[in-house]
Amino acid sequence: MQDILKWTMNAVRDVDKILPPCDVLSQFAEIEKSNDNVVCQLIGHSENGNPIPAYSWGQQQRNVLFYGFPDPGEAVGGTAMLSLLQALCAGDEFLSSMNVSWHFIPVLNPDDQPDGGHSLHAVMRDPAKRDVDWCVNDPRSETTALIELINTTKPIASFPLHDDWHSRESIPPYIVTSRTLPLSLCEQFRANLAEFGIAMADEPDHAQMGPGFIHMKSSPDYPNSTFAIMERFGPSVVCELSLLEGIAERHLVAAQLAIAMLTLRWVIEDK
Ligand SMILES: [Zn+2]
Repeated sequence: MQDILKWTMNAVRDVDKILPPCDVLSQFAEIEKSNDNVVCQLIGHSENGNPIPAYSWGQQQRNVLFYGFPDPGEAVGGTAMLSLLQALCAGDEFLSSMNVSWHFIPVLNPDDQPDGGHSLHAVMRDPAKRDVDWCVNDPRSETTALIELINTTKPIASFPLHDDWHSRESIPPYIVTSRTLPLSLCEQFRANLAEFGIAMADEPDHAQMGPGFIHMKSSPDYPNSTFAIMERFGPSVVCELSLLEGIAERHLVAAQLAIAMLTLRWVIEDK
């Protein structure tokens, strides 16, 4: 785990704050312009007609999927994906050693972002709106775009980058998974967060994975979720981080990335 911790701290060294959706999108576009290995593809449009670009890196057969801003203001993952793409462009050896192709949707849900995606003030979800990840039976256009990318890439692991950042409240983090992960991996997650001074929530408490873990299948609506589709190909792991008092934004980004890298390494070694 120490190696991943070291890697993530290096990957986020230039992060000074968590960025709003428009900044994440413009930085992805900038990186693509100057890197032939980064491929941009329009995967669809939002309900309001905003384009949804996806970026990929690599020609490997096995794919990994990350998507940001699935709900309003859930911003930690957007900046985390940027750090990941920058590391790929810098020829990062640890990432190359995984032998996977990387797919990123920087902003899955542009319509519902506060201030048109230009800032990150506190926001709560509008209960009248369907959540993009929870409406497979009556999909929003964002959901359809995501499902198509899932079905073409068949990701061995997926990281729907939901978080509790949108509330701007300090909420102990918890981890939501689409399959029961081995306790040793869960303990690595816990130890990784502890390195940043972050203590996981005591609740929920999963019988096998322990405190701070919840299985997506505990939701009766699970069959109506994109998580159930991704689970056909590989696990999804969501780390619900929030603004935590005394924790630097850079370290939240690092913690989010480390959870993904620990998961990915486990998936690859498990194959
Ligand atoms: Zn969410």
